[in-house]
Amino acid sequence: MEVTAAFSRRTTRQVMVGDVPVGGGAPISVQSMTVTRTADHEATLQQIYDLAMAGADIVRCTCNEIEAAEGLARIVPRSPVPIVADIHHQYRMALAALEAGVHCLRLNPGNIRKPEHIRLVAAEARDRGVPIRIGVNGGSLHPDLYDKHGGRVTPEAMVESALDEIGYFAEVGFDLIKISVKASSVPIMIEAYRQLAEVTDHPLHLGVTEAGPPPAGLLKSTAGIATLLAEGIGDTIRYSLTADPVEEARAGRQLLESLGLRERKNVDLIACPSCGRAEIDVVAVAEKAMEAFTDREIPLQVAIMGCVVNGPGEARDADLGIAAGRRRGHLFVKGQNAAVVDEDEMVDALVEWAEFIHEHGADAALARVDTDRAAREAERDRKGLLAEQGDDVNDAGTRIERIRSRIA
Ligand code: SF4
Repeated sequence: MEVTAAFSRRTTRQVMVGDVPVGGGAPISVQSMTVTRTADHEATLQQIYDLAMAGADIVRCTCNEIEAAEGLARIVPRSPVPIVADIHHQYRMALAALEAGVHCLRLNPGNIRKPEHIRLVAAEARDRGVPIRIGVNGGSLHPDLYDKHGGRVTPEAMVESALDEIGYFAEVGFDLIKISVKASSVPIMIEAYRQLAEVTDHPLHLGVTEAGPPPAGLLKSTAGIATLLAEGIGDTIRYSLTADPVEEARAGRQLLESLGLRERKNVDLIACPSCGRAEIDVVAVAEKAMEAFTDREIPLQVAIMGCVVNGPGEARDADLGIAAGRRRGHLFVKGQNAAVVDEDEMVDALVEWAEFIHEHGADAALARVDTDRAAREAERDRKGLLAEQGDDVNDAGTRIERIRSRIA
């Protein structure tokens, strides 16, 4: 499926995280982070596979103890996606992770502060050709910068932290760099990335840190990440949710697909908002359908519509949809009526048709059925519902009449 390039993107350098290019016009990648103990390499690998299935292109694992580094040595060769080691406080863990063969490091400049340690890690990464993400975090800024900027987390302080780290890296000739300047405040995070994009062409990793549990965490992350992506800023993204990390990967993937920045991989489910005409519980059916399509890689737009009176017309651009009639569902393909199914079989029918269309195309799917008969049945239900419900099922006309009579 073709992707519409809706936003022009800032020109950045490119680094390779394993076999995944980041920056330099490469597709924006989705990242997530395991929550298992990295030392438990089997459980961590299982989670990495789950994250990759959900849409993660790159996965980060903490490397906080020597057992974690040893776990990484077992994980990296078996991982389906490149692995980033997350390093805080102990520069020796960065050296151990490099020894384990990780594809990238994340260093927090606020936590690894001694210039000689930073230079040592950068020189080792340089010799191995491994990139480093400078992961500035508003919650763990270097104390000197914090004081310098008035005892507050400011966009300027975060950008200065990133530039200081680039300076240390430059001293040893290392420039395989990605940068993040995350904050839990969306306005501060947005401004920090905007300022950073003005002063460097290194690729940027976007995220709102400690965004919290969904749905608020999803909204905060989307507000920050999507705003910047729409301005052309950002080369790789991560949702930081207090939730199963699979949700992070799914959310990242869905955001990029909805912005037209990545090719669609999964179903784009649309559903009507429901109204007085609805013949089914649209929310419940849509949720059931979402569950049924999750993890099925079918890049089609599928519609769930509450009634056959307006549904097929309102969703005529969908590849496939279903609209409720009188205790049955009218399935339509590209706006054309195709089949009638029992109400309790609507979701199963959608999945079966979606799989067939994905494999053989809409024309082949329609060729299997009597579309004229399906259209006649739909028309019969449509007329029946109109006769029962009337033209003005939401009673808007009556209300408008009352308003007019009041102000007349
Ligand atoms: S008219 Fe039908 S399709 Fe449109 S919102 Fe109401 S129930 Fe849904």
